[in-house]
Amino acid sequence: MVLPIVAYGDPILKKKAAPISEDYENLEGLIEDMWETMKNASGVGLAAPQIGRSIRLFVVDPSPFAENEDICEEEKEQLIRAKKAYINPVILEREGEEWAFAEGCLSIPGIHEDIFRPEKITIVYQDENFEEHTEEFDGLAARVIQHEYDHIEGILFTDKLSGLKKRLIKNKLKNIVKGKVDVEYRMRYPKIKKPI
Ligand SMILES: [Zn+2]
Repeated sequence: MVLPIVAYGDPILKKKAAPISEDYENLEGLIEDMWETMKNASGVGLAAPQIGRSIRLFVVDPSPFAENEDICEEEKEQLIRAKKAYINPVILEREGEEWAFAEGCLSIPGIHEDIFRPEKITIVYQDENFEEHTEEFDGLAARVIQHEYDHIEGILFTDKLSGLKKRLIKNKLKNIVKGKVDVEYRMRYPKIKKPI
C-alpha cells in the first residue's frame, strides 16, 4: 500500500525516533508499504518518520545510481548491496573527506541543495529477522544511508544549509508547509485539515 509522505513542517520530522523491538506490530507489512511508497515516489530512500511513524527504521535502494555510466564496478556493487531495510541502525564511524552532492528529499519536493557529508561510514543495524549486521559503505551508498539516518535523528538536509541558503529557499519551504507544491505522489501537509 502506498502511504502518504509527510511534508516538511510536520513536527514528526524534527523528532528523534525511538528504537523498535521484534514484537512491533505488523513490521513486515510496514516495511513492504515503505518499499512501495518509496518506489511510487521514485525515491532512493525513505525513513519511517516520513510516513508518520517515529521509529528507528528506514529503507534504502540507491541502485538507480548504478545505471550511471560514470560509476565504477566497486561502487555499483555497494549501491546494490545497500538496498535493504535498516532497523535500529547506529552509525559507528564516519571517515574520509567531506564531499558535496545535490541532495533532495521526498518530504521536501522541488528543493535540491549541495550537502557535505563524510565519504565513508560503518553502520550496525538489524535486519527483518532482528539479526545484527555491521557493514561499511562509501560514496553514494554512504550518502543515501547518512541522509536517511539523519531522518531518524530528527535532522533534515535543509538543517545543514548555511543561513544565506536557508533564506533563499525560505518561501519555497513555506509553500511546502501550505501544500502549495506540484508533486506526483501523495503527501500529508501539516497545515491542511483532513476533509470531513
Ligand atoms: Zn529525506
